[in-house]
Amino acid sequence: MEPSLRELIHISRTLGSNQHLVWKGGGNISIKTDDGGMFIKASGSELGRMTAVKGWRKVDIAEVIKLLNRLARSKTTPAKISEGLMNCCCDGLRSSSMPSIETFFHALLGRCVVHLHPVYLLPYLCSRGGQHLLRAVLAEHYDFQWIAFRGLGVVTAGQIQHLLLKRRTDKTSTAVLMLSNHGLIVSCNTARQAIQMVGHIIRLCRKNLPGLKPACLPQRKQLPKTSAKIAECLSKESASMIVKPVPENRMRTSNGVLPERRWFEGTITPEEITYLAGGIVWIDKPDIKVIHKAITRHRKKTGQIPMAFYVDKQGLIIAADKTQMSVMKTVFGFYLQIRGNAIMMEGLKPLPARYLTPESMI
Ligand SMILES: [Zn+2]
Repeated sequence: MEPSLRELIHISRTLGSNQHLVWKGGGNISIKTDDGGMFIKASGSELGRMTAVKGWRKVDIAEVIKLLNRLARSKTTPAKISEGLMNCCCDGLRSSSMPSIETFFHALLGRCVVHLHPVYLLPYLCSRGGQHLLRAVLAEHYDFQWIAFRGLGVVTAGQIQHLLLKRRTDKTSTAVLMLSNHGLIVSCNTARQAIQMVGHIIRLCRKNLPGLKPACLPQRKQLPKTSAKIAECLSKESASMIVKPVPENRMRTSNGVLPERRWFEGTITPEEITYLAGGIVWIDKPDIKVIHKAITRHRKKTGQIPMAFYVDKQGLIIAADKTQMSVMKTVFGFYLQIRGNAIMMEGLKPLPARYLTPESMI
């Protein structure tokens, strides 16, 4: 096995197995080789499950950059990107799995590039006061570039290309990029260095957040009843979904404060759209008509059937496929923490609606 691939598998399994850093198919990592190639996570696969035979592709960096420049000049479609990225593969594999959609920015940066969506960093990235606070938190150790959300994949790569051109970031030394409403990019020389840097940044972020405590829910005993009502409303929408409350002791918030309606306003990250069916729906009364109305409103707004509900004073309820239930309980629990923390940093900073289009998500 090529040493760079061994390095990629090691770092992907190490960082990818930590749910506080990334979950489901999110995040991506790459390592460049001496022959102008780059090993990168395959699109949709899970970092923590990468093996010697699956979960990665090798691409030709010069071809990726040519493709990026071509795409930037013309109107892009997901089909054009997929076809173009498949043509950049140089691993000889007869695989239908595509290199990560975020391959473009990896190609522009240093030898080892890590991109994650960490729970303890997202409140800073999704709040009005977060950028300023993050500068103070990391000041002694890291300088970073802040990248406003304009879209994913090709768009983010274009923004990073611009920074490189203006020499505001450098691919020969270590670099930290903060993607507003999205996540972290660390660029450095080795996987070992990247693991250390990610660990250090996240420890600093976490240290400056309030401690997590179980939220005290005054009407928690009614949660199973409300869960049954939600199941009844959703039975007409999807037969394969099961509905379950999150146990109270697993529902932790900053200092144990009780969530409020304003915690659930807007979409704060693209993954709330792509993985989490538009995010958590606020229910202020456990009444079947109220629940039904909230589901209809959510479907109109996002085009998706909600997978999580927060019922005022009662707690969190998840509606998901049986196989996804455990991970969804964890991820929606994280989003409750992220939103609660962001509220305390001068309020949530939702994604502007103009960037929530299918074109921005490519
Ligand atoms: Zn991402």
